[in-house]
Amino acid sequence: MLDYLIVGAGLAGAVFARVMSDEGYKCMVIDKRNHIAGNVYSTEIEGIEVHQYGPHIFHTDHERVWKFINRFTDFNHFIYSPLANYHGEIYNLPFNMNTFYQLWGIVNPEEAKMIIDRQAEASGITVPDNLEEQALKLVGRDIYEKLIKGYTEKQWGRDCRELPPFIIKRLPVRFTYDNNYFNHPYQGIPKAGYTSMVERMLSGVEIRLSEDYIKNRKKYEKIAKNIIFTGSIDAYYEYCYGALEYRSLRFETEILDTGNYQGVAGMNFTSLDTPYTRIVEHKHFRFGEGNKDRTVITREYPVAWQQGSEAYYPVNNERNNRLYEKYKRRAEQEKNVLFAGRLGRYQYLDMDKVIKSMLQLTDELLGKSEDN
Ligand code: UDP
Repeated sequence: MLDYLIVGAGLAGAVFARVMSDEGYKCMVIDKRNHIAGNVYSTEIEGIEVHQYGPHIFHTDHERVWKFINRFTDFNHFIYSPLANYHGEIYNLPFNMNTFYQLWGIVNPEEAKMIIDRQAEASGITVPDNLEEQALKLVGRDIYEKLIKGYTEKQWGRDCRELPPFIIKRLPVRFTYDNNYFNHPYQGIPKAGYTSMVERMLSGVEIRLSEDYIKNRKKYEKIAKNIIFTGSIDAYYEYCYGALEYRSLRFETEILDTGNYQGVAGMNFTSLDTPYTRIVEHKHFRFGEGNKDRTVITREYPVAWQQGSEAYYPVNNERNNRLYEKYKRRAEQEKNVLFAGRLGRYQYLDMDKVIKSMLQLTDELLGKSEDN
């Protein structure tokens, strides 16, 4: 009899399995995919680590999370500094003094603030109701139109006026010449590679791949006292209240006979007439390593999600949040099932937030206080 059957071998499941196995609980991890590591899974192509489900850059400001993850790998010093390409014009991201110089030819933070304030005031928005209003208030019209509108509408498949304001608040706005996409003190790519990192996390834990829990529910319920479910919460309940919506992605990966295709790991294409949102050139995540003569690039196309296809981004609008609350209330009645991770909680969570939430969950189960 297992203490915990963990459904999903991604980061959430792996953290849970590691902590609880170390505490002496009998755990088993199953995954319907034929590999571990969930969406952080990476493989080697032409000697280059390729992020199979979109680029993952680890970053955190959480000391405990950083210590935890460093048990399984060291990190390189990669700092994500993507570029935006708008009709062939190149801009630095996130929005910072370099971007403002490229847009307006100004070099002084006060001047940049004045331009943004003037444009924000002209939009007349006080309390933003949607993403467009939030963006106009935060960075003004020029940046909204060149760097936000097209990218966002492609990514989410709907008008910026139909999207919630909080999405755009993920991006920093800085009045310094600093192209670091993240504000966190710890950042990097696992030197061991993402898949090996998760493999080490799961060492000694029984794993079964290509195993669909939903299809084999009866069999698994019999062998486990508790279930940690990191798949989609609506799928667990067989969509009884209706399906939650997600945004999906299609990746087009190419091997090219050049040592350096675009000179940067991430290039965002921010106009509506380029059908993909970004091109990732994987080798640049690991400076100086790997194949010198060839490169691997991935174009990322946002696509509508259908039941059965990979769910990437929860669409947290009012309809879906209300529906999720219904599933959550039902989940709270469960005695032996806990829902976790991005899909289980229907929340866009960065990797560090996933780890943090799993450490909190295991603390609760083990009766430990937060700062252990
Ligand atoms: N975004 C944008 N232009 C960009 C990059 C991002 O407008 O060049 C917006 C877009 O709405 C996106 C949000 O910022 O959904 C969050 O971007 P982030 O890079 O965090 O998205 P992720 O890479 O995590 O999908």
